Amino acid sequence: MKIQQTAGRDQLGGFAPKFAQLNDDVLFGEVWSGGGLSLKMRSILTVTVLVSKGMVDSSFRFHLQNARKNGVAKAEMAEILTHVAFYAGWPNAWAAFRAAVEVYGDDPGTNGGMFGLGRPNEAFARYFTGNSYLNPLTNPEETVFLANVTFEPGCRNNWHIHHAAKGGGQILLCTDGRGWYQEWGKDARELHPGDVVYIPAGVKHWHGAAGDSWFSHIALEAPGEECANEWLEPVDGEQYGKLR
Ligand code: MN
Repeated sequence: MKIQQTAGRDQLGGFAPKFAQLNDDVLFGEVWSGGGLSLKMRSILTVTVLVSKGMVDSSFRFHLQNARKNGVAKAEMAEILTHVAFYAGWPNAWAAFRAAVEVYGDDPGTNGGMFGLGRPNEAFARYFTGNSYLNPLTNPEETVFLANVTFEPGCRNNWHIHHAAKGGGQILLCTDGRGWYQEWGKDARELHPGDVVYIPAGVKHWHGAAGDSWFSHIALEAPGEECANEWLEPVDGEQYGKLR
């Protein structure tokens, strides 16, 4: 796949058209686009060389973003920069890490546990404080709907009620990290992998991550009649902050 690069012409086309052409058409259009090495490996090579030369300017940031796009995971970038630090020099690695933390800052990494992270939970984002992710595990047209829900540290959903005329409610199967479950008027309950929470219909509650940990649970909408969710106010930040 040929890379379309215009940075050279955009930034230097008027000042140095030859350099711009070499940058866009030869370096990116031919060398980067060559099939002999994967884009991921080319990104790792480029990041490594730039760090070892102490070049951690905006072009380094571009190459970090490129590396992320080309499949270098957050954990891999941490390994790469740690390894390179011994050869490139400690201060260069420090500077590189500062840029990497920013570029990879919103990367959920390998969180989500054995049932997977899934996609950003955009449909329900307005009922959450912080970012959450949803991985559907079953097709609701075929059977009971199960989904793995992952909360970033500090993320929790609003107070809410699972209503039902009969049966209903929700069951949480905790799968990864550390989190909290709280019913209105009661103390919060700390949750760990393997914990099971049964939330009867009609009970006002919230669930989410601890402040310093990712958290995942499988959510099961218990079968019932006339089931409906009612979303209420966000969990008070001060109250949440007291949970340890
Ligand atoms: Mn719930």
